[in-house]
Amino acid sequence: MPGSYDNSNIFARILREEIPCSKVYEDAHVLAFRDIRPLAPAHILVIPRGAYTDVVDFSARASAAEIEAFWRAVAKVAKEEGLSEGGFRAIANTGLNGGQEVPHFHVHLLGGRALGPMLTRAA
Ligand code: AMP
Repeated sequence: MPGSYDNSNIFARILREEIPCSKVYEDAHVLAFRDIRPLAPAHILVIPRGAYTDVVDFSARASAAEIEAFWRAVAKVAKEEGLSEGGFRAIANTGLNGGQEVPHFHVHLLGGRALGPMLTRAA
């Protein structure tokens, strides 16, 4: 996936403001918005503005300023959404086995209830 960023993916279109989103946070490097199909009372996606396909691509090619801004935003949004105290889950689905549907790096923040085990034991 790295090196083959698809400019027509849905998050690229949200970043270009071609389609709307329910914005939670933004700065020069980062946008956070509510997932359109929430899996928990709080379900927010945090994405870099830069064109990175996944966490591996982001970590390899993003500047120190982008990486710092991204992870600071993840923590800030979690805190401001009231997730930090009770706990939450941060997930970066990556590639085929990771079940990544949108090929623009993103972290899911899930919380607002006890989330249970991370995975079931299905083979
Ligand atoms: P992933 O499987 O990790 O790539 O997750 C992609 C997520 O993007 C899913 O949870 C979708 O519900 C979410 N999603 C897809 N389209 C939109 C959209 N237009 N606005 C907000 N979330 C979206």
